[in-house]
Amino acid sequence: MKIIEKLSPEKLGTKMDIVHLTKTDLETFDIPTVHEGDPEWAFEFTDNGFASPSNMFRFPVPAETVGLHLHEYTALMVKEALEAGAEIEYEAAFREFIFTDGHISGVRYDTPEGEKEVFAKVVVDCSGADALPRRSLPNGYGIERFKLADDDVFYVILRYARFREPQQNTFWLNTKSWFAPFSMNENEKIIGTGATGGYARAEEEAAKLDSVTSRGDFELVKTEKGITPFRRPPYSLVADNFIIAGDSACLTKPDCGEGITSSMVMIDIAVKVLDEALNRDDITKESLWEINRASYFQLEISGRRHADRAGRGENRHGNFIRDTEEISERQNDGGGSFGYAAGR
Ligand SMILES: Cc1cc2nc3c(=O)[nH]c(=O)nc-3n(C[C@H](O)[C@H](O)[C@H](O)COP(=O)(O)OP(=O)(O)OC[C@H]3O[C@@H](n4cnc5c(N)ncnc54)[C@H](O)[C@@H]3O)c2cc1C
Repeated sequence: MKIIEKLSPEKLGTKMDIVHLTKTDLETFDIPTVHEGDPEWAFEFTDNGFASPSNMFRFPVPAETVGLHLHEYTALMVKEALEAGAEIEYEAAFREFIFTDGHISGVRYDTPEGEKEVFAKVVVDCSGADALPRRSLPNGYGIERFKLADDDVFYVILRYARFREPQQNTFWLNTKSWFAPFSMNENEKIIGTGATGGYARAEEEAAKLDSVTSRGDFELVKTEKGITPFRRPPYSLVADNFIIAGDSACLTKPDCGEGITSSMVMIDIAVKVLDEALNRDDITKESLWEINRASYFQLEISGRRHADRAGRGENRHGNFIRDTEEISERQNDGGGSFGYAAGR
């Protein structure tokens, strides 16, 4: 397997400092488990919770969650991939597909030494929200080529804040905002806010959150911004000799934009289906189709509440949860949104 990555090793995984994953995810998908003291480990916590719009009610939703330094954790996964036989070329940016008899047979890419090509039985687009390979497909190749518009994107602002007093980890569903740790210090929280439409709207939501929580009283350590797809995935994730995965396939939770678990659910299935297809020496869309069937089924099971909400159009900002009764009902219904991340 050959990976081409447009960034240098130093820049890889630096788009933000920390990502949150449940510990169950690390075990389920057999990716490296890290422990306190490891460079990849930032903190662990179990005390999640939802809060009502007025911040008068809070409903605890315990889940064992670990904070990982993304750059360090990505480097650890790269190390394991290399040990398993993968090859990675850095500063290598996808330019275009190579076709043989009308089917993808490789890619051309740009490097500091000039243009190069690589041929492969199957090409997988893991290029994130920009999805240049998917968008470069010829019309009719089998996967939608849309470019994400402002309303398809969750604009996330993370303010790393040092408060005077300890703060609870909380998700405000109505403003799609949250307090999550960035260290084991209970005074240090990431104030996260996301909105479709642009960063200006995410800033408005941040201001709303500050007003209801009355917690503008903090020292700002740093701010990070980023985007994550916030719309349905393409109808098919596969075409002849080609698979899309991760943010390129818009595989994110439609209520908060987190994408790592959804991507791993799909990749887990894709690996098994692709393995069988390679053994049959048949990498056509039909041969890979089980990835679509199984992925959508599994993603529905793993994120059925999210899928339900997306289906009802609730993934649009501000159309989520209106009152405390509804939060309460969802809580009684089995743990609300946080409950799904651990399940598959
Ligand atoms: C602020 C923020 C916080 C988040 N927090 C969480 C969280 O706590 N938990 C969670 O589950 N999710 C979180 N997410 C979402 C998560 O980051 C994404 O869903 C996930 O990173 C998607 O992984 P990916 O590999 O598909 O894409 P990416 O992580 O974007 O990786 C794509 C890679 O492809 C490379 N690339 C891009 N274009 C090319 C090209 N043309 N040629 C070669 N290489 C290319 C990029 O350099 C990059 O290394 C967050 C997102 C944001 C914006």
